[in-house]
Amino acid sequence: MSSATPSSATARLDRILADAKRDREMGYRDKALKMYPHVCGRCAREFSGKRLSELTVHHRDHNHDNNPQDGSNWELLCLFCHDNEHARYTDQQYFSEGSTSSPTIAKATHNPFAGLASLLKKD
Ligand SMILES: [Zn+2]
Ligand SMILES: [Zn+2]
Repeated sequence: MSSATPSSATARLDRILADAKRDREMGYRDKALKMYPHVCGRCAREFSGKRLSELTVHHRDHNHDNNPQDGSNWELLCLFCHDNEHARYTDQQYFSEGSTSSPTIAKATHNPFAGLASLLKKD
């Protein structure tokens, strides 16, 4: 593995698509689609026909090896919400690592309220 821009949105989406492909090959996606309504768990959009391919299986604990047969670790998310979900999770991971944050991450998680906070601190 090289360390080429792992934090870019494109790389993240690529990974989600790769995961989706694996889930389909392993049969998890079929099971999850039979188990749950074809609705995104975040934005509540409905998917049918060709568009069903935009609905992907998300692993709630982000562990793709954790596949209980009752589907309790699965959630159906559209590509957009799935991407968002992983972005949040990635941010959390970086934050919990603490001191070793890279400048790329700092830029990606730009906080629009940072300026406001410093204004409020001023007397
Ligand atoms: Zn969605
Ligand atoms: Zn996921």
